[in-house]
Amino acid sequence: MNSPLSFDLIRRRGLMLVLSSPSGAGKTTLSRRLLESDREISLSISVTTRQPRRNEVNGRDYIFISPAEFDLMAGRGELLEHAKVFGNYYGTPRAPVESTLAMGRDVLFDIDWQGTQQLKEKARNDLVSIFILPPSWHELERRLMSRAQDDPSEINRRMAKAADEMSHWAEYDYVIVNRDLDQSTLAIHSILLAERLRRHRQVGLSDFVSDLQAGK
Ligand code: 5GP
Repeated sequence: MNSPLSFDLIRRRGLMLVLSSPSGAGKTTLSRRLLESDREISLSISVTTRQPRRNEVNGRDYIFISPAEFDLMAGRGELLEHAKVFGNYYGTPRAPVESTLAMGRDVLFDIDWQGTQQLKEKARNDLVSIFILPPSWHELERRLMSRAQDDPSEINRRMAKAADEMSHWAEYDYVIVNRDLDQSTLAIHSILLAERLRRHRQVGLSDFVSDLQAGK
């Protein structure tokens, strides 16, 4: 069965969908919803030197590696982008992204503005970027506190960082204020659907039209 966002009659090029936001704006929930409802997109699993949180699974949420392993991967050019965020290193392994795109599937990235800039420099035409904003500062604070996954000093540090993170909204193609999860999910689906239909991504179009013209 086709997913509702699939137009698989025409062969298309996969796209890279980036979601960025200050932590606590709802990005992780929105990513999960998108992955559950659309089988043509898969998540890029980052490597990180940060310690796993409770409930985080190695290989599902992140690939947790040591700083030495991270340096090796970066040095060998195995990371498509990498950045230091909250004192830890994060990076996107190159190989899985390239093989997914080659299959005409899309890749979802949950990365920060630094990584987005690097991807933009490398693959502007394949990149679609969305910035998620919280509805208010108060709500951001509430979400970070109720999550309580990190220790209090970590939460304070993240609140301080949020203002800085948010200053990068204008570098993104789309901006969504996440007031309501259903509405924000719909907005992301709509963006994805429209971006998949961009002419330059539908690489099978000229053959298709030639066949139509030839009466096939
Ligand atoms: P957390 O530690 O809360 O999971 O993530 C902290 C921040 O790092 C988030 O803004 C997240 O989007 C970002 N991040 C996660 N993985 C990567 C990555 O591979 N590259 C970059 N540049 N940022 C990442």
